Amino acid sequence: MPTSTPPASVMDLNFDNRFSQELPADPEPSNARRQVFDACYSRVLPTPVKAPKTVAFAKEVAELLELSTAQCESDDFTQVFAGNRLLDGMDSYATCYGGHQFGHWAGQLGDGRAINLGDVLNQKGERWALQLKGAGPTPYSRTADGLAVLRSSVREFLCSEAMHHLGVPTTRALSLISTGESVIRDMFYNGNPKAEPGAVVCRVAPSFTRFGHFQILTARRNLDLLKQFTDYTLRTDFPHLGTPSIETYCAWFEEVCQRTATMVLHWQRVGFVHGVMNTDNMSILGLTIDYGPYGWLENYDPGWTPNTTDASERRYRFGNQAQIAYWNLGQLANAIYPLIELKEPLQAALNGYTESFEQGWQAMMAEKMGLKAFEPETDEDLYAELLILLQLVETDMTLFYRQLAKIDFTVPLDALKTAEAHRLLGSAYYVPEQRNQDYLTRLEAWLKSYQHRLQKDGTTHLAKQSQMNAVNPKYVLRNYLAQLAIDKAEQEDFSMVNELLEVLRHPYDEQPDKAFFAEKRPDWARQRAGCSMLSCSS
Ligand code: AMP
Ligand code: MG
Repeated sequence: MPTSTPPASVMDLNFDNRFSQELPADPEPSNARRQVFDACYSRVLPTPVKAPKTVAFAKEVAELLELSTAQCESDDFTQVFAGNRLLDGMDSYATCYGGHQFGHWAGQLGDGRAINLGDVLNQKGERWALQLKGAGPTPYSRTADGLAVLRSSVREFLCSEAMHHLGVPTTRALSLISTGESVIRDMFYNGNPKAEPGAVVCRVAPSFTRFGHFQILTARRNLDLLKQFTDYTLRTDFPHLGTPSIETYCAWFEEVCQRTATMVLHWQRVGFVHGVMNTDNMSILGLTIDYGPYGWLENYDPGWTPNTTDASERRYRFGNQAQIAYWNLGQLANAIYPLIELKEPLQAALNGYTESFEQGWQAMMAEKMGLKAFEPETDEDLYAELLILLQLVETDMTLFYRQLAKIDFTVPLDALKTAEAHRLLGSAYYVPEQRNQDYLTRLEAWLKSYQHRLQKDGTTHLAKQSQMNAVNPKYVLRNYLAQLAIDKAEQEDFSMVNELLEVLRHPYDEQPDKAFFAEKRPDWARQRAGCSMLSCSS
């Protein structure tokens, strides 16, 4: 039941745990690593930590739970979200899922270092699932320790919130807590293990259900449980679809396809590369989930992936994310096929994904260019040439669109105006000398056709600029900025984590006093670990 008053303290959060109440539990109480059959989760307690300290919290996420700033600054908060104290009503557990990793079926994976605390029900009747990442081993930890290091936790915490404020569907992050304990990691799996500070992030979402939750049940031919789990998902995460039936399952899959298309379109719009789009990292709600070796495009390069584990194949490169999402949806379709036993509706939903993605892509490119609507006869060529230009010379994608928006195309592009356009765009190039005569000629030709196209719309300069600035962020979590914040955090200076959190709350605003955070990657960061190269080690 929702409560009539907000919690008087963190200790009074109102829990109502449907997942653990309604789905079958693994009867074994220990957290020894094992295969878990005929169950959706295992009860497990977070491992207490020595000296937890709240590094940062997101006040907007606290508001969802109706927690005040003072409550977030309390010792109770630190203890609870470090995993040191369980509250009345919490029922902590790790869930069982499987997945395809890098295109290969990997069998049981599961919450290896995520421990769910249960669902908080707020006064509005909203339900928010809480999950601690890095709170110790679970039956699903396989050969790993269930812990997380500060560097990866800073990245997860900041990026979750940055994505939310950019308008990208994502899981949220309530808190970032350092544990006062160290964790051993071999960052590049090259025989150089070292002790790093540990941390725990509390993630918040309507649910953390992944494609892999369905896949593991079908892979084990546990079809009764597959039906039970799917019906549970429909009831809790998709109540608007109505009573489960073959039609509802089809409508549900269609909605998952559409939500996934929307999510990936947003990634392409803001230049986000997930880095590990395994099926276990795909949310059934179409939320960006599991921030590991993700990265932000600096120079526009569809072939780029930040994940060194994927360096040779580059399966999860920026330009391949839409195709991979489609492939992952195909795996989900296979997993739920036994419930439906009809290929056509599943294939139709997959086709619907492709159509929506293509249409959404065109609409998005039109918006990024400040056009009123996508006109196929002209605009396909216009954006295709733009995307080539962005690659001919190393060009910072984020800066380019913001600078392009500054150019006033309502006046003739004479020599003076063209020189000004070159000057404005100049700040987006990493190696300005790469601009040879061919490039300049091609760019000028494009600027002319772009101007011609804008004239057809007749939008004023300022209206076009504000339309562009509403979809092209000025501030994203640049890879090197996250690394600078991590370098400081590892010295126990958390000022930059909090400053970035603040700046990234308003990614589309100019924030002139924060211009430092909008600068392109400095040269020192080009090849530095953590800035452009990340591994799954976290
Ligand atoms: P990821 O590639 O991060 O999505 O992780 C794949 C699987 O490995 C998931 O089931 C994770 O829970 C698990 N995992 C990753 N890191 C750890 C860790 N340090 N301890 C235990 N399990 C982990
Ligand atoms: Mg994962």
